[in-house]
Amino acid sequence: AGEGILRRQSLRESAARTYARSLPVVPVRARGMTVEGADGRRYLDCLSGAGTLALGHNHPVVLEAIRAVLDSGAPLHVLDLATPVKDAFTTALFETLPPELAAHGRVQFCGPAGTDAVEAAIKLVRNATGHAGLLAFTGAYHGMTAAALAATGDTAARATVGEADARVTRLPYPYEYRCPFGTGGDRGAELSARWTASLLDDPKGGVQQPAGMLLEVVQGEGGVIPAPEAWLRRMREITARRGIPLIVDEVQTGVGRTGTFWAVEQSGIVPDVMVLSKAIGGSLPLAVIVYREELDTWRPGAHAGTFRGNQLAMAAGAVTLKYVREHGLDVRAGTLGSRMSARLRGLAAHHPCIGDVRGRGLMIGLELVDTEAEPDEYGSLPAAPRLAAAVQQEALRRGLIIELGGRHSSVVRLLPPLTITDEQAEAVLDRLADSIAAAER
Ligand code: PMP
Repeated sequence: AGEGILRRQSLRESAARTYARSLPVVPVRARGMTVEGADGRRYLDCLSGAGTLALGHNHPVVLEAIRAVLDSGAPLHVLDLATPVKDAFTTALFETLPPELAAHGRVQFCGPAGTDAVEAAIKLVRNATGHAGLLAFTGAYHGMTAAALAATGDTAARATVGEADARVTRLPYPYEYRCPFGTGGDRGAELSARWTASLLDDPKGGVQQPAGMLLEVVQGEGGVIPAPEAWLRRMREITARRGIPLIVDEVQTGVGRTGTFWAVEQSGIVPDVMVLSKAIGGSLPLAVIVYREELDTWRPGAHAGTFRGNQLAMAAGAVTLKYVREHGLDVRAGTLGSRMSARLRGLAAHHPCIGDVRGRGLMIGLELVDTEAEPDEYGSLPAAPRLAAAVQQEALRRGLIIELGGRHSSVVRLLPPLTITDEQAEAVLDRLADSIAAAER
């Protein structure tokens, strides 16, 4: 049955389909981090819906919350009207927010995807400031709608967005392994910050006062690249001093994944706007922006949308937020993630093709490099996309689902559910080690 489904989908579905190309699995059942394919094979899922499944697949509390709404007779579709379900979600969300935003923040339900919330955030700051430009970063990923895509790094994908692209000034993200400002954390961060400040202050520098700055604390699709905390604090200072709203996209980093509930907590910065999606819907589509109330200057109806009131997603999301908090899954992500990364660094010592191991919490990346090639002028080895693709296929053969990312699709990304057990973590690392050894041959 699985083969037939794969064949029919590849014939009928758009050429743009993504995950199904490299992961020919037909999932029919799933629980926790285990996915069972139509062929009866079982996989450990380290993709988790691109980081969406904080509690894994079909967690009992999520299923129960969804069933409770279905059984209660509550309407499933009410546009953006107030409902008890929405009220419970909003309350649960505000309990997790940085205190400044919880006390003086507004939420706007967008929807249903992360890209819709990014779009809303950009529109919000344009509306509030009267400026059009946006500062964004190399390697960023913010989504596939026009403004979000223009802020995304990918040059090929961006080629289709036309005008929107011209509004974005792209700054170098502190990608320490291949850093345009050199490595060494604070020094690189300081140089990048000075560059940003000088662009904004130099009257011949060519950057108009922008509507906002948009960044990820850890770039996910861009190759699992954590920004140094010193850099984040400098970006916060630079934007605050010049009255530029800082938008932080926590679509992938949110809900405990990086070791704190929100990734911004680690540097202590408080953004003016936070963009949230993926895990906040507890497996179902939900996206919001949360922002300082002063920015809420748009008129009623200025940002609308039919599907901003997904009651099932709000119910699933509310219990997910609570469960992560009450069970300390954010802290657990931090400690288990550090242990997994340490073991991966040990692995890298035996496999020179693993150029870098990095991440925060359970958002881990291994950058694979071509050890046969000549290092570039800065001593870095080129990316190894073919090797990475081979590792992904070897992993699949061993019952492990992993995704690739990064500039040249040469970064192996691990995004397991936060509920992953110690034994599962060991199994993931064993299978990954075997897959790398097999792909190297
Ligand atoms: N921002 C970030 C940081 C993301 O990782 C993603 C999706 N991977 C998005 C935005 C876009 O979300 P969506 O795919 O739901 O539109």
